[in-house]
Amino acid sequence: MAKTTAVAIVTGGSRGIGAAIAKGLAADGYAVAVNYAADKSAASQTVAEIVTTGGAAIAVAADVAKEGEVMRLFETVDQHFGALSVLVNNGGVTAGVSRLEELTAAALERVFAVNVFGAFLCCREAVRRMSTRRGGVGGSIVNVSSRAAQLGGAGEWIHYAASKGALDTLTVGLAREVARDGIRVNAVAPGLIDTELHAAAGLPERVERMAPTVPMARAGTAEEVASCVRFLVSPAAAYVTAAIVPVSGGR
Ligand code: NAP
Repeated sequence: MAKTTAVAIVTGGSRGIGAAIAKGLAADGYAVAVNYAADKSAASQTVAEIVTTGGAAIAVAADVAKEGEVMRLFETVDQHFGALSVLVNNGGVTAGVSRLEELTAAALERVFAVNVFGAFLCCREAVRRMSTRRGGVGGSIVNVSSRAAQLGGAGEWIHYAASKGALDTLTVGLAREVARDGIRVNAVAPGLIDTELHAAAGLPERVERMAPTVPMARAGTAEEVASCVRFLVSPAAAYVTAAIVPVSGGR
């Protein structure tokens, strides 16, 4: 692999929204590291789809909640593809559905470990590589937040919504911290998107049940979220940083 191709890491790039982002960035010419935590076959399938259509991709296992695994993820990408220019912090969990009075400490810890600690650790590794203050050539980070951060998740997952609120704060703070270092940091805030996340949380009927409550009267697709991420990392968004863009059909 020539080391001149622009390089992207998509955490949780194996399935759902992350897979659509990985495939979209590959179509835009990026060599893509498709990170996954557990489902190796989904990651392999996404990589195979990219490679079959002429793109470059590798699957890299790492639980982003674990610092050592994050370090290995970035080192693997350094060695395989070279200089990183895009990080998409997409990997995330809901830790299940629960009213706050029934919430376990384990669920609370896990949702913040993956959605917040994971994003912080990946941002740190990306900034160390991209920052012009540290000899890098700049780059772009997109965090996959959620409209839940503003809506609050009442009755379902305040814990998850609050983790996405923290991700929004990370987005704005880091964007301002590295704005003069050649790095743009933005977030997308998807609304109701038709993926396996809802069934994994124990609510397989959630998308169908809630679609009529969306102002546009339908759920969104993973590709519609990916389109926004592709725009945010592109030169067309050169003056966009610290933005949190809803992709939610008005929700
Ligand atoms: P999904 O279909 O459940 O996919 C989740 C992805 O995250 C999988 O690739 C999974 O990999 C990965 N992942 C989970 N834990 C991880 C960890 N510890 N380290 C690395 N990767 C991990 O979910 P999705 O709907 O595509 O969601 C993607 C992102 O969008 C999440 O951040 C989610 O919060 C956000 N979002 C989704 C919706 C929605 O309605 N679907 C709405 C708003 C925001 P494995 O399969 O290997 O575990």
